[in-house]
Amino acid sequence: MILVRTNRNAEPFLRALDEQGVPYYFSGNRGLFQRPEIRELVALLYSLSQGAREEHLYLLAQNAYDVPGEDLNRLVHALPVETGRLRPLLERVARGGTAIEISEEGRTRIQAMLADLEALRSLARDHRTGEVLRAYLERRGIIKRLRTPTHFEDEIQARNIVKFFRLVQVFGSVAVVDRVPLFLRHLSMVMDHGEDPAVADLSEESDVVQVLTIHRAKGLEFPVVFLVQAANDLFPLRSWGRGLDVPVELAPGEESSPELHKEEERRLCYVAFTRAKEELITTHAADYGGKILRARSEFLSEAFDLGKPVPPGRRRRAMEELEAHIVEGPDGLPRLERPAAREPIHLSHQRIADYDTCPLKYHFLHVLSIDPILTMDHRVNFGNAMHQAVAFALDRHRLGQRPTFDQVVEVFRSNWRSEGYRSEDHARRRFEQGVEALRAFVQREIEGEPPPTDVERTFRFRLGDVVVSGRMDRVDDRPAGTTITDYKTSELEEDENADQKARDNLQLSIYALAHKELQRVRPARLDLRYVLSGTVGTSTRTEDKLERTRDRVRAIAESVRSGDFHAQPTIRNCSICACRPICPESVV
Ligand code: SF4
Repeated sequence: MILVRTNRNAEPFLRALDEQGVPYYFSGNRGLFQRPEIRELVALLYSLSQGAREEHLYLLAQNAYDVPGEDLNRLVHALPVETGRLRPLLERVARGGTAIEISEEGRTRIQAMLADLEALRSLARDHRTGEVLRAYLERRGIIKRLRTPTHFEDEIQARNIVKFFRLVQVFGSVAVVDRVPLFLRHLSMVMDHGEDPAVADLSEESDVVQVLTIHRAKGLEFPVVFLVQAANDLFPLRSWGRGLDVPVELAPGEESSPELHKEEERRLCYVAFTRAKEELITTHAADYGGKILRARSEFLSEAFDLGKPVPPGRRRRAMEELEAHIVEGPDGLPRLERPAAREPIHLSHQRIADYDTCPLKYHFLHVLSIDPILTMDHRVNFGNAMHQAVAFALDRHRLGQRPTFDQVVEVFRSNWRSEGYRSEDHARRRFEQGVEALRAFVQREIEGEPPPTDVERTFRFRLGDVVVSGRMDRVDDRPAGTTITDYKTSELEEDENADQKARDNLQLSIYALAHKELQRVRPARLDLRYVLSGTVGTSTRTEDKLERTRDRVRAIAESVRSGDFHAQPTIRNCSICACRPICPESVV
């Protein structure tokens, strides 16, 4: 087991396990209702009730009955000219009463799904929710499969299903009548309140590396435990001031203080140490990025009598860091160190854009990991503040808590930095432009559109020895397929066409590739939304285009691997480059 202090600290360890192909389980931040096996059960229950929406049937057909994606796409595209509803269309397909071209396999699977739904619908009339769910799991052979798990993922699914059943049981024990529609009404209220129970934990015997926060590991024991990042300010976590005090008259003795915070952290450390049955390994480093070097955790010093931690030395300055990485080439000329031959190359859209702009910039930021100098460019600062406000608004909308315009502007204001503008007046005009754009955005996309499925969805996939990761601004899973959206805070030039920009956009191509690699299906649409004007550029990606994107990613990875970090100094590149203050090649 690997123990981390917070979920965020797990990231480098998950990446390393990924790279080495070591199976692991990380429960992370996602709740029970986000798990695919639970989404399937919820979609089933909705499909049995009057309130079924098209996406429930679609999800069931796609995920539970494996109806081929091509067949589903054809059906969804036929919706407007047929009945406009998916269920009657599926029934006609099952009877062979439509001209839509569906594979034999697809038809058979649709028939099986409709037969199950018919049987379960009649069962649901006079049976409790749990009995209906159990009948479904048995019909689908899920109980049998999970009873003899062949993979640790089976065990996770089984435990999550048991946890969901407990919710159903609790409802059944307090409800006057326990029937599927009433349970769904209850579930919808639970979800509307933003409640999402934690996913189940794996058993201690599971043969995978479990990555857990210390809080989640309470009560569990493992033969070997790694307590990682045991460095000061990471563990104990730094206390960020007094925060919001609890009124003493409401909770006598609960007032907060740095001492109480440290005491609480010390108790957690005791929990961490005592999770190990045979071996406890602790790790710490001096350099975790950022400006400060860190000493060994004082808790390690206390527990193992190691004496006072030695204060870390000074962090190397950027140029010292650069010089330390310069090696002499065979021609006697200095050459920048390159990544080891067999190490995977990590790329994201940002890294690819940095390499395209200037390979030397890529080297500064992503090989030497030199902290970017705070940029003074107003476009970057404006874009960042707008992006934070838009992401906040969409995420609240996703959770069913529509944000007000004032709340969105408050996020914009708190992320606003006034550096880099031509004058105070320029900064003021840009701020006002941002506020007006957000007003229109809230009316258009928060009040006028259904919520997104996901906001800032992270992804990671491999192309051979290249690991590609990133984050999608917005994802909408709909019956007609998935739409992935990237928000732009720049403006379209007069002669630019939004659709063409979306078609040419590499970032969207990488998102499409991620969706294809991870979901085995291409997204239906890829959009660019320009927040300032409300213009939307729409595009799709063909298999050919995805293959060209793969080639491009591999080509950049090859250049990185070969150590090609030549400078591409131009006034445009250097004027907004975060490395300009340390770059000997800068032309501005
Ligand atoms: S300042 Fe110019 S030359 Fe130097 S890294 Fe940045 S873009 Fe490249």
